[in-house]
Order: sequence, then C-alpha cells, then structure tokens
Amino acid sequence: MALLETEALVLRTYNLAEADKIVVCLGRSSGLIRGVAKGCRKLRNRFGAALEPFTFVNLTYYQKETQELVSIRQTEILRSHFNLSSDASILTGLAYMGDLLMEFSPPHQANEILFRMVTACIDAVSQSPDDLQSILRYFEVWLLKIEGFLPDLRFCAECHRDFNTDEPIFMGQDLALRCRNCSSGRGGTVSKRLHTHLRTTEKLAPGKFAEESRIVSNQTKRELAELTQQIIGRVLERLPRVRPTFVQ
Ligand SMILES: [Zn+2]
Repeated sequence: MALLETEALVLRTYNLAEADKIVVCLGRSSGLIRGVAKGCRKLRNRFGAALEPFTFVNLTYYQKETQELVSIRQTEILRSHFNLSSDASILTGLAYMGDLLMEFSPPHQANEILFRMVTACIDAVSQSPDDLQSILRYFEVWLLKIEGFLPDLRFCAECHRDFNTDEPIFMGQDLALRCRNCSSGRGGTVSKRLHTHLRTTEKLAPGKFAEESRIVSNQTKRELAELTQQIIGRVLERLPRVRPTFVQ
C-alpha cells in the first residue's frame, strides 16, 4: 500500500455509512480518484471544511494496487471558493463541470493540462461570477479538446484546406469539420462567426475569453452552446456508462 500526495480539486462527496464520505477529486498527479474519508462527518474530525466541493486541497492518501477506492488520510486547504457557494446558479454550473469531468476523465490518469485548465476556469468564475456561462463554454471546448473529441478547427478533415477563408464549414455525423466541397453540403453548418468564436478559446485564458465574449452576439453564444451540447451528447453515447477502471 503506497502513501501518496497530490494537489487536488474536490468535485463531489457522497455520504457513506454513518460517519464517512466518498470523495471524488481531480488530482494534479493522480487524475480522477475516488476515496473514502473515514469519520469526516463527525463533529470533530481531521478534515474540517477541506472536503467541500470545489475546494483545492493538498491530499494525502493510501492506494492499494488492487482497489479503485483510495483511503484519504489527510487534507489541507490550499484555496477555497466559499464566495461562490451562496449563488445557486454558480453551484449548478460548478456541479455540471464536476459531472463532465467524471464522465470524460478516465480514473487514475494524471493530466497536467486538464488540471491546469480546470483550475483556471474555477479561478475565473470566482473572480467574475457574472461570466459563468462563457467560462462553462470555454471549459466544454477545452475538455473536449484535451480528451480528444474536439474536431480540428484549423483545416478540412478531408482535403486539409485552411478554414481561414469566408467559405462555410460543415460538421458531419462523425463530428469532423469539412469544407463545402468535401462535405457535399451535408451536415450542420458552422457559421464563420461561430468558428471565429471557437478559435478564440484556443488563444486565450478563460477569464480573458469571458471578457471578450461580452461583446459577442447572443446568437453566436447560443450557437456555441448548441455545438458543444451536440458534441458532448454524441460522445457520451459512445462512451461506456461505467468507464473501465485503471489502477496504476
Ligand atoms: Zn475539404
């Protein structure tokens, strides 16, 4: 049994037995893990407020090679966002981010880029709660990209023609983007303004993207929300409901 340590973001907790909780975390060096925090629902316990969702903690835990559930020994709060917990729409938005991470991120697979992206998004929501929706779109696009489900936004998937023209772009059933020629006009159209808005996510940090989104039309924002929902829906149909577990 190994004693491990990681910086982690608490995503969700479930009550277990009388005094314990199951805690789902995204760790910088552990990836997505589920752990048991024994005794954490007792009045005096060693975890305090560290296991509240969307708290960044330093986590010490035991991991047995044969078990998916780890055993949480110690937590230390690095950063908490208690300012967000009084707003119901923010809590719903953060819970949605947690749900997507649990669906898309394979357990026990560390992903530094994913961890940094999630951290940056939560910090951006904390700094500017009014920008929640734009930051959620940014999060969706980047999660899809990091997990390998976002189509290439630069070139046609068939002829590799650069999309930096005024030609319309089409998204096929296979979620690939193609030029008019290669798609024969089949599939949903991705408007030029949506394509430009999408590409902005690749260039900016979430807070900056949200700032720039304030002058983007509501129609383009709606198109982006529809596109990410469409891709997420299709990908989740393909993913097994219970992801195979992988223990390092
Ligand atoms: Zn083409």
